[in-house]
Amino acid sequence: MNTTFEAVIGLEIHIQLQTKSKAFSSDSIEYGALPNTQVSPISLGHPGTLPMHNRAAIDNAIKMGLALNCNIREVNRYARKNYFYADLPKGYQITQFDTPLCENGSVEIKLSDGRVKIVRLTRIHMEEDTGKSMHDQDLYDTLVDYNRAGTALIEVVTEPDIKTGEEAYAFVTEIRRLVRYLDICDGNMEEGSLRCDANISIMPVGSTVYGTKVEVKNMNSISNVKRAIDFEIARQAEVLNGGGSIQGETRGFNGLNGTTFSLRKKEAINDYRYFPEPDLPPTLVTKDYIAQVKSGMPELPATLYRRFTTEYGLSDYDASVLVDDKHSALYFEKVVGISPKYKQASNWISGPIRGYLNENALGMDEFHLSPKQIAEIIELIESNKISHTAATQQLFPALTKQSDSSPTALVESLGLANITDTSFIDDLVQTVLAEFPEKVAEYKGGKVGLMGLFVGEVMKRSQGKADPKTANALVKKDRKSTRLNSSHANISYAVF
Ligand code: ADP
Ligand code: MG
Repeated sequence: MNTTFEAVIGLEIHIQLQTKSKAFSSDSIEYGALPNTQVSPISLGHPGTLPMHNRAAIDNAIKMGLALNCNIREVNRYARKNYFYADLPKGYQITQFDTPLCENGSVEIKLSDGRVKIVRLTRIHMEEDTGKSMHDQDLYDTLVDYNRAGTALIEVVTEPDIKTGEEAYAFVTEIRRLVRYLDICDGNMEEGSLRCDANISIMPVGSTVYGTKVEVKNMNSISNVKRAIDFEIARQAEVLNGGGSIQGETRGFNGLNGTTFSLRKKEAINDYRYFPEPDLPPTLVTKDYIAQVKSGMPELPATLYRRFTTEYGLSDYDASVLVDDKHSALYFEKVVGISPKYKQASNWISGPIRGYLNENALGMDEFHLSPKQIAEIIELIESNKISHTAATQQLFPALTKQSDSSPTALVESLGLANITDTSFIDDLVQTVLAEFPEKVAEYKGGKVGLMGLFVGEVMKRSQGKADPKTANALVKKDRKSTRLNSSHANISYAVF
């Protein structure tokens, strides 16, 4: 009989910090430069060179620690982790060994069934990145670009609290959202500025003894983290149920077929001969300094979510959609700062604006209309100057093409204004009623739902510009003798 297993998963996430220069030298880290043009003798560890601390990197790491509820260490020492590899020009990496900057944090994740789970963090430490080996540039040789060597990183290490691929997906998504809110990393897994290694083991359900873990690397998207974990759990169960045993090893992930493959066995514990970095003084992170960094931090999604739901009265769903993306949340704040119509602003952002951006493969940070223009459209609808239909179907698309125009001016020049002239609308009402004598008879006989048909016809004939409230009132007045269904007053009519 097959044993049923449960998985135990811990993640290690490397986050490249968006600083101007490297962790311990003034070399630029600008992306896209020609290979090996941003490498000073310090990055190469030449004799006689001295590394120096980068304050921006330390500040960014403290921000992440605060956002993840960690204790921040006061006296921070640095260590050398020694190993030989072609992408490591110094032969050692400067990192933190037994004095990580941050400890004991936690991250709250929301799962698709609505459950909220806390994942505990072991530590966040600071270190420097390696160079990049390029295996596909030359037919015979691997080439190395040292531009990345020495870039400031933080490594977030979790406790083995994660149980499924879905939980890992939610965790990495939350980490990515936070680094973007904090503006310390672009969170781009495809380009490697955020990298996740997953440690995975399985044990019989109910057991408390962890199995041997396998480390999986090279997942270049969050969904691939989930796929790799799901595959690995199934693979390990099959091995154990087949009478085999799990070897401690490092595996890679193949995104094309969703499988993992062995990279190297962990026969012995790696001996990195850690020793204190002799060229760097310890850094002192005082309470005052932490307070100073904290005062420069932006609002985080949890705070925005609370305000959107409690103060602005948005639904859980609307608020979650907005805070998922920092730029949407900030844009929303600006729109409601000008015109406090919260629900309408939220609808505009997740409706027409999101639709426009998706069609053009743009992000919210690339949206070219100003919050003031969107607030103005909302006001035009609210004050009955234009119908919602005309605003979404005509005004908004026109404005995206003539963005230096104002919505009010476009309503004017395109003739989109609601017609509120009663005699004009009444003429249309008379024409419509004259055209549908049978329907009028049915209506009088009690089929009050036909009200919608009459008003709809009036709207159609006015190209959607007749003020629906006036049209409703006029049809109603004309058919006063019949019972009328007032619930039609607020229908928004499609115009053909
Ligand atoms: P190593 O010494 O191999 O680096 P660590 O104890 O430092 O291992 O843990 C590295 C990561 O692996 C952490 O995220 C930790 O939570 C996770 N981890 C540790 N043991 C297990 C296990 N048995 N199964 C799954 N993950 C584990
Ligand atoms: Mg470790």
